[in-house]
Amino acid sequence: MPRKRASKKQRALEILVRLKQEYPDAVCSLDYETPVQLMVATILSAQCTDERVNLVTPELFRCFPDAAAIAQADLAEIEALVKSTGFFRNKSKNIQGACRRIMAEFDGEVPPRMEDLLTLPGVARKTANVVLAHAFGINAGVTVDTHVKRLTNRLGLTQESDPIKIERDLIKLLPQPDWENWSIRLIYHGRAVCNARKPACDRCMLADLCPSSGLDRGAIAPRFDTAIDTASDTASDTASVAIAPSMPISTQVSSGTGAQPQPKSKKSQKA
Ligand code: SF4
Repeated sequence: MPRKRASKKQRALEILVRLKQEYPDAVCSLDYETPVQLMVATILSAQCTDERVNLVTPELFRCFPDAAAIAQADLAEIEALVKSTGFFRNKSKNIQGACRRIMAEFDGEVPPRMEDLLTLPGVARKTANVVLAHAFGINAGVTVDTHVKRLTNRLGLTQESDPIKIERDLIKLLPQPDWENWSIRLIYHGRAVCNARKPACDRCMLADLCPSSGLDRGAIAPRFDTAIDTASDTASDTASVAIAPSMPISTQVSSGTGAQPQPKSKKSQKA
């Protein structure tokens, strides 16, 4: 039977299904209890590992638990507490600036709207997407960090290097309820399998869907009777992954979490 070519969207959905199967309990790996703390932790995570951030935030949040305390703090004290996360002067200044604006303009609470979040010092789309998704359950966009950037390029889902353009491409491919959990699970996969220097394609559950797989195509056991017939499918929206008509691309990819603009602690939510 002749094979049809899968669209890039079909392939993205199949990748999403497999990510959910592989990482069913994926959650944001930053520790926090309030939206303000999540915002602060996300600002600190720039150019730093989440593990390192989680080492410094317990003492930071013990000393300065909310926006009011951070806004009034001695900046040097914040700097000393977050020094090991790198770029600590700039991060401290932004954290305090954001909290001062939250106190002055938003009654001491993190605003649950993208346009308001983007007015806070140090908060760009990546941080805003993380805060909206995990603190409020709002999928306003797709978080694009270094792992998401690397993997979406390797998987041939975008040709862009600019995070804003990558996010724009991913929004077209993925169901809105899955925008954030896509990023969380791709980050897990980037850490566990598809790392920057040496991707472990030989144990990757996406190898038959990945145009960048380092494996010999003939050696890949297709899970859904798939095959990749060219070196790359990044040139057009039509993927080079050939799919048998029976390939069960799942449409049940939504996590089913609706947008609920109520603040959540980490304990109350899963990706
Ligand atoms: S097949 Fe290789 S390059 Fe592609 S996602 Fe998996 S580990 Fe990364």
